[in-house]
Amino acid sequence: MRKTIIAGNWKMYKTISEAIELVNALKRELFKLDGDDIDIVLCPPFTALSNVFETLAESNMQLGAQDVFWEEEGAFTGEVSCRMLKDAGCKFVIIGHSERRQYFGETNESVNKKVKAVLKEGLVPIMCVGETIGERERGLTFEVLENHLKGGLKDISAQEAENLVIAYEPVWAIGTGKTATPDQAQEAHKYIRRTLATMYGSELASSIRIQYGGSVKAENISGIMQQEDVDGALVGGASLKTESFAAIVKKASEVIK
Ligand code: PEP
Repeated sequence: MRKTIIAGNWKMYKTISEAIELVNALKRELFKLDGDDIDIVLCPPFTALSNVFETLAESNMQLGAQDVFWEEEGAFTGEVSCRMLKDAGCKFVIIGHSERRQYFGETNESVNKKVKAVLKEGLVPIMCVGETIGERERGLTFEVLENHLKGGLKDISAQEAENLVIAYEPVWAIGTGKTATPDQAQEAHKYIRRTLATMYGSELASSIRIQYGGSVKAENISGIMQQEDVDGALVGGASLKTESFAAIVKKASEVIK
């Protein structure tokens, strides 16, 4: 049994006071859910991490960051290390989001260094993979997924891979209002799991959680979650409002497979 994981990627939204307000509202909406049944992860911008962590105290929600740098410390102006994220209360780190690949030069090599550093610090990487619309139209979806997985996880042992979360995020569905159909999501997730099985064996692959991300809303989460290989969601826009994120989390928690 894989534990459902719903994460909210707040991107570059929310000042500290706005972040605290959202967390308090989510606590009121979601307090009935058991953190043993579902991982609910909030990923605010760096500036709000500590305050969100304090506000999350004794709740069923956990903290994640949106990126990290792989070095332990040093003259790397503007960067933040894994130890700093852990110190701020993070348990999860999103790595290789398509916006970082598109706008900030993230590559499989940098993703790989970040995944290794995050695992070494005992944090959980949420490693994003996914194709652009052009790649899908040219029939390259599986090739891109395999390339992202094998590049991002290069030299990562089976023991380390136990703690991974993968997010399948078709780039054409992120922030566009277009969602993959449940069948499209399942097809990609199944391929991801099969690829992980070739790398780590089927037993381990069947325990790794794979989230879907791309315009997830309360209206489409149930159909996606019902798919065999979908274990949760990485939510962008809809995680910025209490009603929409709480509704997604509640609907996801109702899906029993
Ligand atoms: C994301 O940022 O990871 C994402 C999936 O965004 P959205 O839900 O807005 O498409």
